[in-house]
Amino acid sequence: MRAQVGIVGAGPAGLLLSHLLALRGVESVVVEARSRAYCEARQRAGVLEDGSVRLLRAAGLAGRLDRQGLEHGGIYLQFAGERHHIDFRALTGGRTVTIYAQTEVVKDLIAQRLAQGGAVHFDVTDTEVDRLESDKPVLRYTSSDGRRHEVVCDAIAGCDGFHGICRPAIPRHLLTVNEREYPYAWLGILADVPPSTDELIYAHHARGFALHSLRSLTVSRLYLQVDRDVSIESWPDERVWYELRTRFELPGSRWTLKEGPVLDKSVTPMRSFVSAPMRYGRLFLAGDAAHIVPPTGAKGLNLAIADVAMLAPALASLLRGDLGPARAYSAACLSRVWRATHFSWWMTTMLHRAPGADDMEAQLQLSQLRYVATSPAAATSLAENYTGYPELPI
Ligand SMILES: Cc1cc2nc3c(=O)[nH]c(=O)nc-3n(C[C@H](O)[C@H](O)[C@H](O)COP(=O)(O)OP(=O)(O)OC[C@H]3O[C@@H](n4cnc5c(N)ncnc54)[C@H](O)[C@@H]3O)c2cc1C
Repeated sequence: MRAQVGIVGAGPAGLLLSHLLALRGVESVVVEARSRAYCEARQRAGVLEDGSVRLLRAAGLAGRLDRQGLEHGGIYLQFAGERHHIDFRALTGGRTVTIYAQTEVVKDLIAQRLAQGGAVHFDVTDTEVDRLESDKPVLRYTSSDGRRHEVVCDAIAGCDGFHGICRPAIPRHLLTVNEREYPYAWLGILADVPPSTDELIYAHHARGFALHSLRSLTVSRLYLQVDRDVSIESWPDERVWYELRTRFELPGSRWTLKEGPVLDKSVTPMRSFVSAPMRYGRLFLAGDAAHIVPPTGAKGLNLAIADVAMLAPALASLLRGDLGPARAYSAACLSRVWRATHFSWWMTTMLHRAPGADDMEAQLQLSQLRYVATSPAAATSLAENYTGYPELPI
């Protein structure tokens, strides 16, 4: 079999890349280890940067996003019993973020690719990439009916997430890997209850961080900082709600947390990880395959989108015989990746309570939070990074 581009992984990066390539007349084949139903139900991110929304709109993918997405002009920072609003619109000249679940982005992309006759193969096994140094790299996989396939490509995109097979296919001595594991995790619940807030609340608390996010006007997404090695069984629903109530409590205010049935519960470890370069021969990595950020800055999904926004035109140029953009791809992406890595680390360390942290550390965090809440210069820095920096060239 032949394909111009072989894409490993039908997450946001792989699916969007396939669509952006199709818009440029480049055909691709996407192979995915999981089922379509699994990909469409996997609960993950939910905040789209300004540039991600504009890119999806420009690519003709924003029909449902424009109808159902919730535009947010800021966030709340809560600490020391006070809740402060950070007004993104006022601080950044009108930029916003949009709440639209990653599950919905993935559903829209799969529907669009299949409606346009795109090749997306789910439930594949034994994916392999080979001959990456040649100008005819090869993608092999076994389809769900048990048949083995070999696809000869012009380029392969490794969009297969952190645990995929593409990054390990690059000789280890050619990679520089920077990694930091945080000594805590997030316990996240999806709750069938309208949000108790109009915009996200990031709460610093002596018992640990909490985040009130949302997925729609009827579904809330809430997170608690928990120990890294926690077992989910030790967090029955009543304990989760008690802890959320405690960490979001605002003394002297009538604000209350609405509670409802828990639809999903999971624990996410917190990690910063950057592997460079993002290209090896004709293999190009995008999204979580190359980098991971802790979710505090809401950057993971947006970085995946930004990577493929660069990769699609670079691959189209490569197929026309112009190798320049493909050679520049890794460095161009890594500049944004490191900005997001720093911002995510900064938000994480400012808001979480590290095990064994003393009062000195807590006071430094509170001082930083108060500075952001009261200084327009500090608040602008947060707003600019949160809504996406640098702006995506669309
Ligand atoms: C549990 C969890 C919660 C998260 N929560 C947030 C959040 O709240 N906010 C935020 O901003 N970000 C969050 N993220 C990060 C964000 O969801 C990711 O950054 C985003 O999914 C990256 O998209 P991607 O396409 O690069 O990778 P992925 O979405 O991981 O997609 C990779 C795809 O490749 C497939 N694959 C893997 N190996 C193979 C193989 N060998 N062959 C074929 N297919 C393969 C996988 O099944 C998967 O479908 C979270 C991530 C996780 C894991």
